[in-house]
Amino acid sequence: MDKNLGFHLVGEEEIKKGKTTDIYFENTMDIFEQKGVGDENVVAEFTASSFPSDWSWAVFCGLDEVLHLLEGKDIDIYSLKEGTIFRSEGRDGVFTPVLWIEGPYKEFCIYETPILGFVCHPTGVATKSARVNKVAGDSTVMSFGIRRMHPGIATVIDRSAYIGGCDGISCIAGAQEVGIEPQGTMPHALTIIFDDPKKAFEAFDEALPEDVPRIALVDTYYDEKKETMMAVEAMGENLYGVRLDTPSSRRGDLGKIAEEVIWELERKGVETKIICSGGIDEYYIPKLKEAGADSFGVGTSISNARTVNFAMDIVEKEGDMVAKRGKFSGKKQAYRCPKCFTYDIRAWDEKEKPECDCGSEMEPMLEKVMEDGEIIVDYPEASEIRDYVLDQLSKVEADWLE
Ligand SMILES: [Zn+2]
Repeated sequence: MDKNLGFHLVGEEEIKKGKTTDIYFENTMDIFEQKGVGDENVVAEFTASSFPSDWSWAVFCGLDEVLHLLEGKDIDIYSLKEGTIFRSEGRDGVFTPVLWIEGPYKEFCIYETPILGFVCHPTGVATKSARVNKVAGDSTVMSFGIRRMHPGIATVIDRSAYIGGCDGISCIAGAQEVGIEPQGTMPHALTIIFDDPKKAFEAFDEALPEDVPRIALVDTYYDEKKETMMAVEAMGENLYGVRLDTPSSRRGDLGKIAEEVIWELERKGVETKIICSGGIDEYYIPKLKEAGADSFGVGTSISNARTVNFAMDIVEKEGDMVAKRGKFSGKKQAYRCPKCFTYDIRAWDEKEKPECDCGSEMEPMLEKVMEDGEIIVDYPEASEIRDYVLDQLSKVEADWLE
């Protein structure tokens, strides 16, 4: 075997041993060891001082792996529930703590890097997924994008996409991770191997079990309307939907193509779903829905979503308020308005609930999830976290469309 070949993966043990951290933390631990310091009790909080692009809110994701990493350490953790929609800062300009850890700094010093990795990328993916699903409304959205990322993180991406609101997942391992059946259509390769779309549609219909929805991909060799009619002829009443994945060089206006296909299907008296894929995101979906598209396969825009730049900062040391330049000292509670999702960040010991400008009483959002290294919450399943996200999504605005 070639020593230069192999999958570039790290295992659970290496992560737990701190091998995926930055070397300066290991060096810091050496200094602590030699100088006899580092046992100071600290509070370290995680905040995102800004969001990518035009995001005004984000979906907190990845807490489960943080707890799995830190279980057994001599620390307490307070956190937003996974799936909570949050703002980067409160109305007072103080950054929203999504999570904070209290305990001897040496207990978790080397884990700053992996903890950030567990929440930064998943929060980005879940947020993008939530934005897509917000505008898709009742239309279904399938996560198709794992092919654009390293397979070693396929389940991380698909779990985050599902929690953010995606209805379906194409990846077998990803669907298994969240406890649903994987979903798919057909690749262009099927038509190419059969030399003929109609033959490929017939083979699909004949070969696969009845519970696999017959979704014909109708843009391999001919015009979308022509291949749609071939699918109608080949699959008859079994045809569940047609998928339009027209390459960008031939596309012009995908919404217009969908309208033409729908028109021709109506003339023939055929009812079938229209699924659009290729370059779909939260800005594109409203136009395609208007054109009559029923569901969407969303790829790279979700799997390669911008990461959220959380940072970890020490804000208390041995009970003293401390903070580096640009950060706010002291442990804090994040209060959220249940109506407009405005946040207000208050010092932890200030127990009075603030009132929102809209008149509602704000609610404390951080809860204790770990005590002395023990996880003290019943961790919800991915589907429950997703339901929590969907409930909140009905209350926030798709403000990028304004
Ligand atoms: Zn409010």
